Amino acid sequence: MKIVGHQREIELIKTYLGKNYDSLSLLYEGKDCIGKKLIAFLTARGFLCEKKEGLGCGKCQDCKLVNNIISNIYENTNLTPHPNVKFIPYDGKEIKIDSIRDAISFLSLKASKGKVLIIEKAENMNTESANALLKTLEEPPLNTLIILTTSNQNKILPTILSRLKKIRFSKLSNEEVRDILSLKVSDEKKLENLVKIADGSLCLPFAALNKENVYNLAHSFYELLKTKKHTEGLFSIAAAVDKFDVEDTELFFDIILRFFEIDLDNLKLSDKFAERFLIEVKKGKNAVLKGVKKKLILEGFYYNLKEVNVWIT
Ligand SMILES: [Zn+2]
Repeated sequence: MKIVGHQREIELIKTYLGKNYDSLSLLYEGKDCIGKKLIAFLTARGFLCEKKEGLGCGKCQDCKLVNNIISNIYENTNLTPHPNVKFIPYDGKEIKIDSIRDAISFLSLKASKGKVLIIEKAENMNTESANALLKTLEEPPLNTLIILTTSNQNKILPTILSRLKKIRFSKLSNEEVRDILSLKVSDEKKLENLVKIADGSLCLPFAALNKENVYNLAHSFYELLKTKKHTEGLFSIAAAVDKFDVEDTELFFDIILRFFEIDLDNLKLSDKFAERFLIEVKKGKNAVLKGVKKKLILEGFYYNLKEVNVWIT
């Protein structure tokens, strides 16, 4: 697994690992889909490595077993994981106290080389979970590494934050996004479009890659809004989107919104138009959740914007 970018963050992590603390608790904070989780596992590797080399020598038994976890997560393999690493993945729901209790009892069992706990998107801990974890953070067992990742630290209890050394992960640059995506996309034009919608994170490009039809329809719909050419296109797009589930429809609106943000940076748009656009996207997302016909939403979107549509290039 190749790490792209984040050299400053990695240097800081290596410094912390090099200090040989009795225990170390870290917060990796930054946008979603920029590599925080992967770097958390590499930090675990560095912590457990027999040679204690940076983020791990990669060759010793401990490093290999941590690498197995990384392969299991990113390449869907089923290799023997390192027994001293506990990972609480984000499954779209809140992190319940049972998972935290499990993790705490895991940390309390002695291991000569130390133990690692990684909690993904820790802002999703409920109050009970957070309070349970707080006790462990206040008095962590010897030789323990705890890493919390988050894209929204404001949702984490201040008492927890005060116990963590914070590492702020910056967005990926366009070059870094291109580097990563070029492993999956060979078509140059498509690659450029995906880099364009990334905004420093791989969430939207990856989602668009997995749902190419959603991306294509969102792109066409956005072009239609810009050109004001009301063709049969609107109706065929609306009819296709009508068949989307909630997740795909949200992605559809997110892509449109991102195209709009890019134009907002590069074009001079009337405030009235920008304001109206954002209202229509919000309205669209809400209406979809309420089960309103998507066809009606998109037609409304088009006609409402047409009234105020002033694109000044
Ligand atoms: Zn090693």
